[in-house]
Amino acid sequence: MATKMIRTVLRDIDPELLGYTQCHEHLMLTKGQSFLCNPALCIDDPTKTREELLRYLQNGGRSLVDAQPVGCGRDSEALAALMEETGANIIASTGFHKLEFYPEGHWIKSMSEERLSELFLAELSDGMFTGTDAEFSPIQHSARAGIIKTALDVCNLDEPYKRLFRAAASAQVATGAPMMVHIEKGSDPELLLRFLDDLGVRPESLYFCHMDRACDQIDIFFNVLRAGVTLEFDTIGRFKYHSDEYECALIKQLLDNGYEDKLLISLDTTRDRLKAYNGNAIGLDYILTAFLPMLRRTGVSDSQIGKLTEENPKRILSW
Ligand SMILES: [Zn+2]
Repeated sequence: MATKMIRTVLRDIDPELLGYTQCHEHLMLTKGQSFLCNPALCIDDPTKTREELLRYLQNGGRSLVDAQPVGCGRDSEALAALMEETGANIIASTGFHKLEFYPEGHWIKSMSEERLSELFLAELSDGMFTGTDAEFSPIQHSARAGIIKTALDVCNLDEPYKRLFRAAASAQVATGAPMMVHIEKGSDPELLLRFLDDLGVRPESLYFCHMDRACDQIDIFFNVLRAGVTLEFDTIGRFKYHSDEYECALIKQLLDNGYEDKLLISLDTTRDRLKAYNGNAIGLDYILTAFLPMLRRTGVSDSQIGKLTEENPKRILSW
């Protein structure tokens, strides 16, 4: 069997070099439809983002995933430049987001399933397309995507989403690349899991994001975990949803049930939550500087923290 690697925007790296990783962040996000949905969904100053990233590295961060997919405000060229300038390992996303984040008439809504799948595959294998907005840009550059982002909406799997998920699943099966899923409050992650399973996507390649704010039924957590999916808790420091004490207790409960190999933690940053853009923000280094000490006080061991922040990202991002 060939050796596994992790595909960052600039180069493939040995998984052993990944180090401390947050698997769902936003470093750059161009001003477009997402901004119209929520003004905090615009992160467009490379100088500020570089400053944020350097603080993350200084406090022990090493790698991260930028979760903005193709044609949805992703700025692949800026991500490549940021990796070059800071030395952080940046993993970029192909795939799709919730349809509300695309304007009327966007190509992703009309492109055939087969072409979409080819597009995702090309971004993972050859290089990302530079277009960031409604116009599909055929210009491809050398920086590659290393993960497939997908999104489950409250409507679950109606035909438009089935088409998108089938295209993403086909690229996943062809490459073995990891797939992350945005889980929306009110959606049915177990239904999606069965749908993806039928398409040949193995649960071991999947992580479900936002589970700490999308779901408050512990049965669902356990069902999904038992099936082999990795869960990401990325609502840390988002106090409009819940406190960090709640977050720590939830993580501790799942750790106590033996799931230390199946959990990830991240911040899912927006403009408002990055210190370089907003002086009062928690910042990209918040987990390192504030949340991990709190987890330790909850009784989580250093070895378990190492799993959540290094071992599990390494395993899930390798292909
Ligand atoms: Zn996100």
